[in-house]
Amino acid sequence: MKSYLYPRLNLDISFADLAFGLFSWLNKSLVKTPSILQDFSQNHKQVLVTLSVRTAFDLWLQALNLPKGTEVLMIAINIRDMQEIVKNHGLIPVPVNIDLDNLAPDIELLESLISPKSRLFVVAHLFGSIIDLEPIIETCQKHQILLVEDCAQAFCGTKYCGASSVDMSLFSFGPIKSSTALGGAIACIQDSTIAEKMVTLAAEYPRRSELWFCQRVLKYWGLKVLSIPQVYVHLISLMKLLGFDIDITRISHKMCDR
Ligand SMILES: *Cc1c(COP(=O)(O)O)cnc(C)c1O
Repeated sequence: MKSYLYPRLNLDISFADLAFGLFSWLNKSLVKTPSILQDFSQNHKQVLVTLSVRTAFDLWLQALNLPKGTEVLMIAINIRDMQEIVKNHGLIPVPVNIDLDNLAPDIELLESLISPKSRLFVVAHLFGSIIDLEPIIETCQKHQILLVEDCAQAFCGTKYCGASSVDMSLFSFGPIKSSTALGGAIACIQDSTIAEKMVTLAAEYPRRSELWFCQRVLKYWGLKVLSIPQVYVHLISLMKLLGFDIDITRISHKMCDR
């Protein structure tokens, strides 16, 4: 009897893409600026490509240079790092609960949390959904609050390139995201002065080497092989045999988060 076991997380990248990534440095002419970037620069937004969404968000906060103690309203569900970045800038994250029926924040609740110290709202489109931003945009404009749209879980090609009236839209191509490139992010920025500052700051950052990228491709190639259901079932039996009764998907999740 054949037995399969499907891991909860499947890397959304093909073996062909991994092979392309591994050998791309041999022929630089194959590596082009993706044409998709043009679609993201609609509405005169500046488009910046960064290592990750977290990099772009951190650069944006550096460029904004808000006074310490400024309150940042944030959807209560997001990865912990986004909140840590806010704290590292001396800003105060204020969680905003969402309605589990539509994954959107309640506008009355949002209004009640706005104080004279609130300057930003970080909204996230979760689990592949895209929420209606109109009421949120209206509220933010009324209170002169900058709006960031975290689309790290909402990339769907050029079908959605970010809302026109938000201050920044962020798309992630990190290892556990759909359409992953094992890293990278797109940031669409409304204010060109801020975008220029971000470019200047990012230019000072150390560059990741070809070797770093090749190692990364090999690591995820290994994880992808292990997550083939026919292989995965044996991996789990082996782990059990060795006395590790653990949830392997949690481990791969952790490794992918790096
Ligand atoms: C993954 C994720 C991020 C971080 O994306 P990176 O490109 O890995 O920095 C931010 N926000 C949400 C909602 C995410 O799911």
